[in-house]
Amino acid sequence: SAESSTEKELTFAMIKPDGVSGNYTTAIKKIISEFGFGITNETTVQLDEETVKDFYTEHSSRSFFPGLVRYMTSGPVLMMVLEKANAVADWRALIGPTDAQTAKVTHPHSIRAMCGLDLQRNCVHGSDSPQSALREIAFFFEKSSLGFLPKHDEL
Ligand code: ADP
Ligand code: MG
Repeated sequence: SAESSTEKELTFAMIKPDGVSGNYTTAIKKIISEFGFGITNETTVQLDEETVKDFYTEHSSRSFFPGLVRYMTSGPVLMMVLEKANAVADWRALIGPTDAQTAKVTHPHSIRAMCGLDLQRNCVHGSDSPQSALREIAFFFEKSSLGFLPKHDEL
């Protein structure tokens, strides 16, 4: 099954504007490496409104959407493709719950507990499923810049 697979998997990770401006990039990359993820691709970009709206289209009807767009365009982000067995679930576990204040209580060793501020400014992104990972990686990275695509060939 997917759960017990030892095949490598890709996920999409991002250090959001508060994480970059708060100088958490080095600490987060250290955690990425210590937990056995490889970084196959990375790029720092300033996202524009249209790109953020498209990336977060599933949340477009939510009341927090305009604030989310402002937050995500407030400064540069660092986007990474991470690779390891079970990368999607393991990266989600490592970042912790969406609300950084909750994370500080329930997952004190998580990345969001370490560097997030609140429900919006939670410092990092991680794909929520292998399907989302494929969409998000393809959204930001050229297929030709990616190495082999373990498990998936839908890109
Ligand atoms: P996650 O990033 O944990 O997958 P979601 O996909 O639900 O969380 O939401 C995307 C992002 O939108 C969150 O990481 C956070 O920055 C922001 N967000 C989510 N819910 C809220 C909310 N209720 N109020 C403000 N911002 C929110
Ligand atoms: Mg999400």
